[in-house]
Amino acid sequence: VDPLDATRLREDFPILSEEVNGHRLVYLDSAATSQRPLAVLDAEREFLTHANAAVHRGAHTLAAEATDLFEDARATVAGFVGAEAEQLVWTSGATMGLNLVAYSIGNASVGRGAPASAGLALRPGDEIVTTAIEHHANLLPWQELAARTGAVLRHIPARDDGTLDLDAASEIIGERTRIVAFTHVSNVLGIVNPVDELIALARRVGALTVMDACQSAPHLPLDLPALGVDLAVFSGHKMLGPYGVGGLYGRAEVLEAMPPFLTGGSMITTVTLDHAEYLAPPQRFEAGTQPIGPAIGLAAAVRYLDGVGLDRIHAHETMLAERMRAGLVEIPGIRLLGDAEGAERVGLWSFDVDGVHAHDAGQFLDARGVAVRVGHHCAAPLHSRFGITASVRASTALYNTADDVDVFLDAVSGIRPYFGV
Ligand code: PMP
Repeated sequence: VDPLDATRLREDFPILSEEVNGHRLVYLDSAATSQRPLAVLDAEREFLTHANAAVHRGAHTLAAEATDLFEDARATVAGFVGAEAEQLVWTSGATMGLNLVAYSIGNASVGRGAPASAGLALRPGDEIVTTAIEHHANLLPWQELAARTGAVLRHIPARDDGTLDLDAASEIIGERTRIVAFTHVSNVLGIVNPVDELIALARRVGALTVMDACQSAPHLPLDLPALGVDLAVFSGHKMLGPYGVGGLYGRAEVLEAMPPFLTGGSMITTVTLDHAEYLAPPQRFEAGTQPIGPAIGLAAAVRYLDGVGLDRIHAHETMLAERMRAGLVEIPGIRLLGDAEGAERVGLWSFDVDGVHAHDAGQFLDARGVAVRVGHHCAAPLHSRFGITASVRASTALYNTADDVDVFLDAVSGIRPYFGV
């Protein structure tokens, strides 16, 4: 693939020209939230300036225009992950998408939904399998669902190098497993997980698969139907799009069987004072006024990503990750998390600085214009697994340059000397 010209792309992201503490901003926090190109800001502004109206059932011209733009956005975002428009449910983000799935299954477990929903119901002793490296968003909804249904939560462990232990996985995923929920890419380790194998293990026992694609959608080409996963979620703001919008992808039969989670306007066929009939997916899961402008903005974001090309983005970020690793391993006292040999990765590294708290390291870097994230990154169990409570995370996106990495490395090499360790 042709290398991408990140210096050129940066012109589309005005915020990257900001100065921070007297230094050029080196933004290495895209795993928390990405920056947005002008095309995304313009798409939302254009919608709000010329076509803003509530969608569906409007009798007026603007409502029809807004509906077209909103449904076109759905088709565009669905297409970005290889799916059909009907397979894409708008959510407010990945957290909402995962809670939607868990609460829907909880509702099926108390007998709600169509006859097909019974197939999703959990009974006491059924097992939900997650992994030891999940973001809390793909852990807590399952803890809650287990507590409500009497299901048992089990975890696929991580090896010392941060890779998932597939031998253990094939033991753990068994006859009682009903759900296997896993992240495509860890937001702390940056390793691309062997999701094909996990899906195959789950299928062998007829378990439902739920994938957190937050950290893969902006970085790797994704074809969710080809992957064969049942359900997957992503967040708009991590993939150059607006806050407050995200997607839940589902296989048609699975979405069809799921009872609604949130209920209210815009998701019914008939309502009486005592009873309601619900629309087919995706509308069944879209109660209330949707984030219309953000959805249109997200469509512009995925068009931008597609325009650059996910293969080129992945190759560029792989180069940045290798450059970062090569520099970090030379700096005394830096311990990388998830430095697995030969693993496929996205462009992020988390690390511990011996003798310096992650928050102090983060402030030191910020004073030099380098924006990183510090803490447990909403993955506290993963940090416990590695015997630490916090780490420093540097995460790249398509707009980062080799120079960003060099400025970052130079700053990191100053941390321990500065703190006298
Ligand atoms: N999963 C992963 C892997 C994430 O990195 C994040 C965001 N840090 C989430 C889920 C939650 O995303 P959101 O806060 O946008 O709902």
